[in-house]
Amino acid sequence: MKKKWLYFPVMAAFILLSGCDNPRESPGASALVLEGRTMGTFWRVSLANVDASRQEKLQKAVQSLLDSDDQELSTWKKDSVISRFNQYRGSEPQPVSDNMADIVTMALRIGQKTAGKMDITVGPLVNLWGFGPVKQPKATPTQAEIEAARALTGLRHLRVIQRSEGAYLQKDLPDLYVDLSTMGEGFATDHLARLMEKEGINNYLVSVGGAVLTRGHNAEGKAWKVAIQKPTDKENAVQALVDLQGHGISTSGSYRNYYELNGKRISHIIDPTTGEPIQHKLVSATVIATTALEADGWDTGLMVLGEEKAKALALREHLAVYLIAKQGDSFTSWMSPQFKAFILPEKP
Ligand code: ADP
Ligand code: MG
Repeated sequence: MKKKWLYFPVMAAFILLSGCDNPRESPGASALVLEGRTMGTFWRVSLANVDASRQEKLQKAVQSLLDSDDQELSTWKKDSVISRFNQYRGSEPQPVSDNMADIVTMALRIGQKTAGKMDITVGPLVNLWGFGPVKQPKATPTQAEIEAARALTGLRHLRVIQRSEGAYLQKDLPDLYVDLSTMGEGFATDHLARLMEKEGINNYLVSVGGAVLTRGHNAEGKAWKVAIQKPTDKENAVQALVDLQGHGISTSGSYRNYYELNGKRISHIIDPTTGEPIQHKLVSATVIATTALEADGWDTGLMVLGEEKAKALALREHLAVYLIAKQGDSFTSWMSPQFKAFILPEKP
């Protein structure tokens, strides 16, 4: 929700997906492509066989939907729904929209399945390490600072309550700070897909930041192709191609969103157990799931777990996962059996 994306030239008929880069694709002649900005990143909608006369109205509908999601979910906006919940110091249940309840419910579920590694209450640590609305630190935080921030985190302090009149969020720690950054793009991507369905559009590719969802076919009548990008700082090469078949995909990567402090790479993904940025060899985790929201939740959890534990969890939970790890100067990749089913045989 706050990532900076780099644009690069389109070279082939697929969309490029990476932990920290924008997706691109070349949709073919009769496609309608809409794009814009939201949540500190880019959104993109590619449509096959939709009349160009609908462009303006659709563009506005997408933008206003995403702006309202941002107004609900962004911790960068002081008056967003989640920011107001964070500022609230009491422990009474606070009414929230079904959208918010859905995201938090999914986050808590994935949090539990990843042994607390995917933790939407990790905000105080994210801020301490300089990746939140609070600026980058000039020095490595001390152990005391880390412990103080860590004491303000923990999924056990947050719950979703469903009542007949609606949903509520409740916390039992006044300073709990809920950060939905890691799932906002996935959620917004699903939301765009629902908007397309409502508009009677069945062939689309929608994406927000690093999350993508496709349905149907592109303007050439072929499957939408999504490319997983090679994990390098500069190069925009393709590592693998997938056909999502109506699913959502999301990648979390540690190789682009980082800064250097005292010669050390500081990743924006924090291990809630240690309170420190992750440092292991896993450089990206890509997940395909029924929804982009779910994919976006798992990818972060797997990144924090690291290669071996991520593999074990993917197998245990039957997840469609693609991992890229660094080995010396080169990279190795691994995919779960479920992910293999989405891989396109052709060479990128
Ligand atoms: P990427 O930028 O690699 O695609 P995401 O945007 O999905 O990754 O998630 C990264 C963001 O999630 C961080 O900038 C931070 O706000 C938040 N975050 C960091 N560590 C965790 C964690 N362990 N659990 C949940 N959210 C986290
Ligand atoms: Mg994520």
